[in-house]
Amino acid sequence: TVTVVQRHGGANGISFMPERLPPLGGDSEYLEGITHEGLRGVLQQVLERDGAEREFMSAVHEIIFRVPWLDDRGQLQVNRGFRVQFSSAIGPYKGGLRFRDGVNLSIIKFLGFEQCFKNALTTLPMGGGKASRSRRAGGSDFEPKGRSDAEIMKFCQSFMSELYHHIGHYTDVPAGDIGVGAKEIGYLFGQYKRLTRCHTGTLTGKGLEWGGSLMRPEATGFGAVYFAGELLADVGDSLKGKRCIVSGSGNVAQHCAMKLLEEGAVVLAMSDSRGYVYQEEGLTRDQIMEIKGRRSGRLEEYTSPTAQYVGDKGRRVWQLAIPVDMAFPCATQHELDRDDAVALAEHGCKYVFEGANMPCTPAATKVFQDRGIMYGPGKAVNAGGVAVSGLEMSQDRIGLQWSREEPDPALHEWLPVVQVDAKLRGIMRSIYQTAKAAAKEYDVSLAAGANIAGFLKVAEAQLAQGAV
Ligand code: GLU
Repeated sequence: TVTVVQRHGGANGISFMPERLPPLGGDSEYLEGITHEGLRGVLQQVLERDGAEREFMSAVHEIIFRVPWLDDRGQLQVNRGFRVQFSSAIGPYKGGLRFRDGVNLSIIKFLGFEQCFKNALTTLPMGGGKASRSRRAGGSDFEPKGRSDAEIMKFCQSFMSELYHHIGHYTDVPAGDIGVGAKEIGYLFGQYKRLTRCHTGTLTGKGLEWGGSLMRPEATGFGAVYFAGELLADVGDSLKGKRCIVSGSGNVAQHCAMKLLEEGAVVLAMSDSRGYVYQEEGLTRDQIMEIKGRRSGRLEEYTSPTAQYVGDKGRRVWQLAIPVDMAFPCATQHELDRDDAVALAEHGCKYVFEGANMPCTPAATKVFQDRGIMYGPGKAVNAGGVAVSGLEMSQDRIGLQWSREEPDPALHEWLPVVQVDAKLRGIMRSIYQTAKAAAKEYDVSLAAGANIAGFLKVAEAQLAQGAV
């Protein structure tokens, strides 16, 4: 019997091991579904050729580097940067950059590992990787939110002065993630050009006027709602009137909330790491815009005569004691645990869609399963972001800009046309259908179906190319 596990923090991404070996614990179960009988074909091939204990989908490269930079007081700061490249079997390594305190190699490896299968699900030709900087031991924090523009620029330039050796238009294409938006991408891209004399591509999430794609900022949040809409339509339900809790107040959460309103749903609350803003009858468009546009990163500074700010004090937004139909965790990993899942179930929640990367703990997903809550996993639900990054890559290659909805009639007679919003909807529909079909074929959950579909695509491409 074969078990597939991911080991965090260790040397491996994914290993195939005989079951007699002790289970590795931790997060090793999250690729549930891949151990299924039906996958023996692929597993068997790997085992026959590589032997039972050989690693198959471990990271190809794990790059760790120093990032020295001068702060506004003229003092030297040294941070640590990472880039983990997992698989280029389907296309160039592709995945975001996360600038945040507390990030470590283990987090980057899980993100990169997830990214491989997410990217495979989009159907676009992209492999998987992830990069970040983390706090150096005993050093000062680098949190872009509290830093001046000059400091962010200096940090980004130093970060890129090392990273540029490892990335490229056809090799590895980074983008944003938590703490990295268009501003940081701009500083990184500028430095990349200075160093390489390559003036196009290589990063996605660029500004619209300098090579970016329409709707890249909106893509992850909108895509999550499109995915939810697909699933609901499939079970004869709709988003209209659904009472939703959205966690987070960053890029993904903002656009998820806006799209939910457009689809006729009600957004009860949004949050940050310190608390949440909530309004019984739902936040208005203006309130969400204001939350989005607030100058400081802190939600507690948002004031409104009607919406209440609730400091967290250990009770997270999931514990809001009001009726709720749907939850969209859009903040960060493991933000929704077993107790939160129980609280949601008790208040009537029927659906959970992960806008963030692995926001629900394995114990929480077990509660969803036991209580009959339908659960859309992050690698499927939040794939809209990287999907539009894929469109940006094709834009870069062809030297054009895609349109949002209606193509320019002067151009579309002779040029290929991609309507970004329609394409994003189509990709989210196909991801849902693919995960559902695999779930049906192997008689597993939708989450396991997404794992299986993504994994098979990467594994088969890898085997065809000599397991690169
Ligand atoms: N960081 C995003 C994600 O988790 C997007 C990555 C990209 O666009 O390359 O999928």
